[in-house]
Order: sequence, then C-alpha cells, then structure tokens
Amino acid sequence: MPEILDGNRVRDEIKAELKPRISTLTAKGRPPGLAVVLVGSNPASEIYVRNKVKTCEDLGIHSETLRPPESVTTGELLATIDALNARDDLDGILVQLPLPPQVDSKRVLLAVAPAKDVDGFHPCNVGNLVAALPGPRPCTPAGIMELLKRYRIPVAGKRAVVVGRSDIVGKPAALLLLHEHATVTICHSKTADLAGVCREGEILVAALGRPAMITADFIRPGAVVIDVGTTRVTDRALAARVFRNAADKLASFDKRGFALMGDVDPVDVIEKASAYTPVPGGVGPLTIAMLMANTVAAAERRAGLC
Ligand code: NDP
Repeated sequence: MPEILDGNRVRDEIKAELKPRISTLTAKGRPPGLAVVLVGSNPASEIYVRNKVKTCEDLGIHSETLRPPESVTTGELLATIDALNARDDLDGILVQLPLPPQVDSKRVLLAVAPAKDVDGFHPCNVGNLVAALPGPRPCTPAGIMELLKRYRIPVAGKRAVVVGRSDIVGKPAALLLLHEHATVTICHSKTADLAGVCREGEILVAALGRPAMITADFIRPGAVVIDVGTTRVTDRALAARVFRNAADKLASFDKRGFALMGDVDPVDVIEKASAYTPVPGGVGPLTIAMLMANTVAAAERRAGLC
C-alpha cells in the first residue's frame, strides 16, 4: 500500500509551530492582523473565507472580513485596498477570488501592498519567487512543498511533472520544485501525449480541475502523486464510476448531493503510486495553514523580528 500524505496532520504541525511565534508578536505589541475582502455571496468563497477566519481565531490572529456588495466597482475596491494598505494593525490583505466580472481583478490584486500580499500574487512577489528571493509564496504550492519536506520525500534530481500552469498553483508549484532541484516539466491543455509525459514523473502534481482525469496510464509505478484538484461532482454516474460503486461513497453522495473529487483517479493511484495525497485531506488543509504562515511572517517582518 502506498503512503498516504496526510494534509491534516501536517496542517496541525504547522499551526502548532506558528502559535509561539504569534504569542511573541502579541507580547511585543499586537497579534498579527489579516483583512479578508469578500465580494458578494459566492457560496464556495463564503466557505473558504469562513474557514480562514476560523483558523485565525484558533491561532489568535486578528482577522476582519470586509464584504463589499456584488455590484462593487473597481474604483471602490481600489479605495478599500488603499485604506487597508495604510492600516498599521494589519499585516496581510487577502482578496478572495473570483471577483465579479465588472471588476478588473488584476488591478485590484496589484493594488495590495507587496508587504501585505499574503497570497503571494503581486508581481513583486512573483518576481521574488522566480528569483528565489525571500517573500510570500502562493499558499497551495507552498503547502505542497511543506508536505514533501515533512514526509522526507526527496526532490533534488527527481523528474517532476506538474499538470496545470495557473498563476496560483501550477506555475508557482513548478518553480518551487525547480528551486529544490527537481527537473520539472509543466503540462497544460495543449500538451501532446499528456499521459506519456505524466508517466515520466517521479513526482506528479495534478492541478487541472478535471475530476479523476489522471488515471493509471498517467502514473509512473512508484510515483509520488500530489492531487491538488478539488471539484464538487454532482453527476452521480461519474461518482459511481470513479468510486467503483463503493457503497459508502455513494451513500455519502446521496446524502450530500455531491462528491468532492480530485484530479487523480482515487483507486488507480493506490495501485500505482508509492505515496499520494487523498482528496479531501491532502493538499486542501495546507492552503489555509500556509496563509496563516505567510501572515505571521509578514507580521514578523513588519515588527523587525526577521
Ligand atoms: P485553472 O483552471 O486556473 O488552471 C487549470 C490548468 O489545468 C490550466 O493550466 C489548464 O491548461 C490545465 N488543464 C485543464 N484541462 C486540462 C487537460 N484536459 N489537460 C491538460 N491540462 C489541462 O485552475 P487552478 O490552477 O486554479 O486550480 C486547479 C485545481 O486545483 C482546481 O480543481 C482547483 O479547485 C484546485 N485548487 C485546490 C486548492 C486547494 O487548496 N486544494 C487551491 C487552489 C486550487 P491551459 O492553461 O492550457 O488552459
């Protein structure tokens, strides 16, 4: 049986390590502060933000959520960000994506002061990532690297294949693997012979958003498989096929009306991988943990502690 890379366990370790750092900051003046800007009422965004706020509360990080209406303009959001940039009691600003279509998302993300950009999306911080300079790293890819490190999975010299080239997952994940001396291939929707390229990967990172598309013929025997994908699947026939009609999975589907599915076939991966992240409970929990880590690091930098 392959090793299960348990994201909940690593998340708890990261949170435990953050607590004394938060206590030190609090004792020196104030706790770290995070502002979350949540526009409108997208149900998925609501859940993500609720989880982020709850994790802040658990850790003693001050958080506040700003809720501009769905009709907000780019100008209004820019003014909101300016005000948050100027606040001394806030170390991090997070703009929950997606923003409504009338808003120029790029301009809004660009307006966040790089020092408060705890998502690592600002071009200054993207530059820091490319140049391997210090700075916040995008949370999901940073979580993947923590998982590999804490499970002592060697990266240097390995062939790593990343499927997906988004700015928030695929590209930064590839860069972080490269900085750890993997030989990295990035795949996308135009990649020829995707399965063949994936089979070269001793480390395979799937970040496509295509439920269970990565099947046995994409996985090199013994590969370490990191499944970033999280899709709410409402198609019962697809769930039945992917979960091989497993009674417990289908009962859960029938109760909830959906199944959370990764990009990797959950049965095939057990047969072929040497280690893998389950969905849920793999990469997902680490994203929020790394957001907290970025917020604490931003607070420490502002307090002159590092
Ligand atoms: P995007 O939609 O921004 O990017 C998807 C990438 O996958 C694109 O580069 C796209 O290629 C590529 N792709 C799509 N279909 C195929 C295909 N058939 N073959 C090869 N490549 C393909 O998604 P994100 O990067 O934001 O997210 C990816 C997944 O990860 C989603 O399921 C998302 O929900 C999940 N996610 C999970 C997080 C967590 O905390 N667990 C956090 C963030 C994301 P192209 O560029 O050519 O279009």
